[in-house]
Amino acid sequence: MSYTKKILEQTINKNQNEPEFQQALTEILATLQPFVDARPEYEKASILERLVEPERVLIFRVPWVDDSGKIQVNRAYRVQYNSAIGPYKGGMRFHPSVNLSIIKFLGFEQTFKNSLTGQPIGGGKGGADFDPKGKSDSEIMAFCQSLMTELTRHIGRLTDVPAGDIGVGAREIGYMFGQYKRLTNCFEGVFTGKGIIYGGSLARKEATGYGLVYLMDEMLRQHDKSFNDKTVVVSGSGNVAIYATQKAQQLGARVVALSDSNGYIVDADGIDLAAVKEIKEVKRGRISDYKTYRPKSEYVEGKGIWSVKCDVALPCATQNELDENDAKQLVQNGCFAVGEGANMPSTLQAVDVFLHHGVLFAPGKAANAGGVATSALEMSQNAMLLSWTFDEVDKQLKGIMTNIYNGIAAAAKEAGAEDNFVVGANIAGFKKVADAMMQQGAV
Ligand code: NDP
Repeated sequence: MSYTKKILEQTINKNQNEPEFQQALTEILATLQPFVDARPEYEKASILERLVEPERVLIFRVPWVDDSGKIQVNRAYRVQYNSAIGPYKGGMRFHPSVNLSIIKFLGFEQTFKNSLTGQPIGGGKGGADFDPKGKSDSEIMAFCQSLMTELTRHIGRLTDVPAGDIGVGAREIGYMFGQYKRLTNCFEGVFTGKGIIYGGSLARKEATGYGLVYLMDEMLRQHDKSFNDKTVVVSGSGNVAIYATQKAQQLGARVVALSDSNGYIVDADGIDLAAVKEIKEVKRGRISDYKTYRPKSEYVEGKGIWSVKCDVALPCATQNELDENDAKQLVQNGCFAVGEGANMPSTLQAVDVFLHHGVLFAPGKAANAGGVATSALEMSQNAMLLSWTFDEVDKQLKGIMTNIYNGIAAAAKEAGAEDNFVVGANIAGFKKVADAMMQQGAV
């Protein structure tokens, strides 16, 4: 049996109850197989055995007092996956579905993603099974402060630098950063995604969504296509979805649908993004409220956003939100490009459908790397005690996304899999981390 297959089997057996982690492992190791098996030095140095095992996993209790005076308890995680090329870096997710499998898959993916950015950042991820929905500001603050009381001792600007993710935006990062500062007596860039007035970077809020569209735009351009006059469907209506919509609209696309976990809206005239921002960023409401702003739009309860006809699909909500049937429907409706704003939104079977039908498919670890890349720019600005303009950061982001596209396209071509960006992203991401691990010896 090949080295890669052996490690995949062993790791799946060792992590039996972790389906999302197994899915990420399978996707990455299966595509790496020819590359790794042709280079026996990796096996000699036990690179895969070390790569699949996180350097450190923290699981801890978060007790906090709700508005009625009752003590609540949540479980939090921080998976410090790989520090071969820099301090651990990756977001914190607050969602009731959070468990070890999800945080491990995210941390594993993050290691490759961060490598693709070309910046010195290792891979990590964290979160808690806490649901911010329906909680008061004081409850959110109590939870964030309690979580940081424990997490503080494990992170630092050169050790581990968390950021936001699902359920963690500027408000939560502010509370967590404040508590870290209080406990350490040190104002340092230990979090990214901070508020602009206390060390945040301009364009960080927009970066993941903008970066996704920059990468897709470059991919389309190199295939004699563009966003102009194209119909686009974006899932989710959170941070990534909103700014992907904004940039796609700026490039002349007509975004016709958005969603949240309750349902989706279709607005054939093009989404009114100001209305969505008011609903989601100001009122923290539901996407169904969109109908009160645009009565002619349609709201559909439940799943089904991928049945809306489009040229380009941008899944920006969560893992496994797009399955094989959704992929078939998209292909049937003429969709020719898919860019993953979320992490692992397409199932393995859905990805196969896209690749089989020649859909231009950008996997999340490349397509949504603009967020963490701009976080690394925030770290640089913090380290230099200065801040760049929006245009400066945006320009750097665009350059990074173009480089990522060129890097994964070249790696795919070199592997004899032209336009298979899953193969390209996995090889390009892996090579740098593996080589850094080889150079650092048995650590
Ligand atoms: P937000 O919390 O801002 O938004 C998430 C959106 O997805 C919401 O509309 C939410 O709906 C929806 N959603 C979440 N869970 C589910 C679910 N189980 N089923 C259906 N819809 C769901 O998160 P972000 O926009 O920051 O993150 C979205 C994705 O992008 C995630 O996969 C994240 O890991 C990834 N990502 C984010 C980066 C960032 O910089 N923020 C960077 C790189 C990747 P509802 O409000 O109803 O829950």
